[in-house]
Amino acid sequence: MHTMSIVELAAGLHQGEFSSEELTRSLLARIKNLDPQLNSLVTLAEEQAIDQARNADQRLAGGDATTLTGIPVIQKDIFCTQGVKTSCGSRMLDNFISPYDATVVEKLNQAGSVMLGKANMDEFAMGSSNETSFYGPVKNPWNPETVPGGSSGGSAAAVAARFAPFATGTDTGGSIRQPTALCGITGLKPTYGRVSRYGMIAFASSLDQAGPMTRSAEDAAIVLGAMAGFDVRDSTSIDKPVPDYRANLNDDIRGLRVGLPKQYFTEGLDSGVGDRIADAIDVYKKLGVEFVDIDLPNTHLAVPVYYVVAPAECSSNLSRFDGVRFGYRCENPKDLEDLYKRSRGEGFGAEVQRRIMIGTYALSAGYYDAYYLKSQQIRRLIRDDFVRAFEKVDVIMSPTSPTVAFKLGEKTADPVSMYLSDIDTIAVNLAGLPGMSIPAGFAHDLPVGLQIIGNYFDEARLLNVAHMYQLETDWHNRIPAGFE
Ligand code: GLN
Repeated sequence: MHTMSIVELAAGLHQGEFSSEELTRSLLARIKNLDPQLNSLVTLAEEQAIDQARNADQRLAGGDATTLTGIPVIQKDIFCTQGVKTSCGSRMLDNFISPYDATVVEKLNQAGSVMLGKANMDEFAMGSSNETSFYGPVKNPWNPETVPGGSSGGSAAAVAARFAPFATGTDTGGSIRQPTALCGITGLKPTYGRVSRYGMIAFASSLDQAGPMTRSAEDAAIVLGAMAGFDVRDSTSIDKPVPDYRANLNDDIRGLRVGLPKQYFTEGLDSGVGDRIADAIDVYKKLGVEFVDIDLPNTHLAVPVYYVVAPAECSSNLSRFDGVRFGYRCENPKDLEDLYKRSRGEGFGAEVQRRIMIGTYALSAGYYDAYYLKSQQIRRLIRDDFVRAFEKVDVIMSPTSPTVAFKLGEKTADPVSMYLSDIDTIAVNLAGLPGMSIPAGFAHDLPVGLQIIGNYFDEARLLNVAHMYQLETDWHNRIPAGFE
């Protein structure tokens, strides 16, 4: 059962071939048996999962089930889950039980999905390798000496290892797409505002967006349909109807115009990755797609701008973790200042502290104009590049990551080289656009991801373009050795 897609599992559940309780128990056992190798989960929600599965079985019997009823999911530990620990990968929240559910969790619960547990992640979603987690690194199931990517590395590793047919992720600068690519699965970061951020612990509020991590585009269409939608509790969520993302999956893509931005195909691109992207382009050419070279001239500014904007927003968002209201509190504080200093100093890891300091500096009165304001101006130029490109093309394709998964520990001593692993994904967040990553083969025996970027609210087209490729290839069905 663990190798079946959401579509196949839903058919099995609806036809009574197996129950959600059987499915849930078998995946829980699989996780207990195999996850010690990967460390992809922080919390297993066994009892709650069995309860949810039994309820789902009743719903299936009663005939009011959705496609996701009875389907297991692993939630990234950034989403608040009532009654189940929500750590955000941090010592700061190691003792935190949320009193309410995030909207994403609430919606997936309403659809009837069954939460098996919470996925490991980089601390407060800051990282590209899952090595900043308080709970230790996650290993890539394709090669346990390599990283799964980050920050949604636990979600990506768990889906690749067939622990659940889908997981949730969040993407501030690439955290759905990059681990998706490094673990050989399918992931989608929606348009900013498409999915509610309520109850999703904030990192950089103007960039954060949640999305599905699945094995196929068809499954991603199902999950996105359940996650998306307007939410009065998130003032940046957009009041626009949610289309049926499955309706156009099989549309003919002949004549589709695809832009190839030259800035994404430079020296930094590993040649093995480049070859796989070239192969994917050939597949699309056979499907009648037309490729056009495009120019996104401000691309080189995306990483520097992001590392002002994201730390600035995080320094403000993370000021709420002060040892007073919730989360970690130091032992025997001498006075209020000591309480703040030691609670934050002991509760946050090194990368989070680095970002808080950079962000506080960039926002301080003397430097605001030079750094924060300037970054906002450049952010607009980056967005304008894409707006101009989408006058000529329907979607844009590029590698998701310039390299395959790197070795554990390889970049931890050099934050800048770590930051550069998101060079292909960050501009999309700064512009607020939707982007996908799909498996496109292997280089150096590790998965390669193809990134597909769309215009605002064009998720249905991304899913269609991805699905047509997945009908021609079977990369998305490959399973890492030892996890068959
Ligand atoms: N790797 C990037 C960072 O460290 C992006 C993280 C994310 O998208 N949450 O900030």
